[in-house]
Amino acid sequence: MLRCGFRKNQSYTRTQAEQRLATGRGNHETDGAGTGKKAMNIGLFGGSFDPIHRGHMALAQAAAERFELKQVLFVPANVPPHKQKQPVTAFVHRYAMVALATQDTKICVPSLLEAPAELRAPTSGQRAASAAPNYTIDTVRALKRGLKKADKLFLLIGIDAFRDIAKWHEAKALLAECEFVVASRPGFSLRDVAEALPEGLRPRAEVTKPFQKQAAIGDLVLPGLTLRLLEGVQQSVSATEVRTAAAQGKPLGKWLDPRVAEYIRKTGLYRRKAEPTA
Ligand code: ATP
Repeated sequence: MLRCGFRKNQSYTRTQAEQRLATGRGNHETDGAGTGKKAMNIGLFGGSFDPIHRGHMALAQAAAERFELKQVLFVPANVPPHKQKQPVTAFVHRYAMVALATQDTKICVPSLLEAPAELRAPTSGQRAASAAPNYTIDTVRALKRGLKKADKLFLLIGIDAFRDIAKWHEAKALLAECEFVVASRPGFSLRDVAEALPEGLRPRAEVTKPFQKQAAIGDLVLPGLTLRLLEGVQQSVSATEVRTAAAQGKPLGKWLDPRVAEYIRKTGLYRRKAEPTA
């Protein structure tokens, strides 16, 4: 089984505030300096969250139960790498909605790990000239610097997003850095999952062929790599669907936490812009 590879004697200093920001933890948790406190399983769940919906929450809760995650960090990307050609709602709104949706769960924590630079280091007074895409590999490395050696990081991802994993920045390095928990869906086979892997990790076609009829459940164990497939996340909703419904003034309650629905209503997010008058 793949284990997180923490480098020994890593020299990295950060302020307590940075530490809390990076890990989403308070002072009462481990300080990463070997205080003898119990090791933790931590989930990292990145996305656009434009807006956060019940599918996201269901995935986080199912993963937390199955892998005994102490925390799931919800990390909205300031600049989602795969959505650079489409408009994304301002980070502050997406973060606010994540904060509202996670308010009642102790485990789910909103994270500023991929926030705009000026929010991550507000005291520096500097503004980033232009925002670079938030690559998950950078986020994982930054987060791991603040964890204890024994802590274990799980990256949570839906199977739709995982199918593009080979296109991700430093995909092979990312797969080696943490365990992946892939939320499967009916209709996807183990072969689909294996074939999504980047070259070099992807098994040969003749090896994956027998898995074509096997549902994407259980663990997929390959040389140097284990993917944990998470079943039972059955929320048929996407943020695209929510934005479309909001633009049409339809009720959003069935997909969203009521506080998020109310936030969208109050702020007029996703409302269609009025046609310009001549
Ligand atoms: P959009 O429709 O705008 O592309 P989305 O609903 O897919 O958005 P993202 O923020 O892009 O949401 O996704 C973040 C993560 O959540 C991805 O790993 C994605 O696969 C997963 N995810 C999205 N919707 C669901 C769902 N209904 N059930 C389980 N996982 C989901």
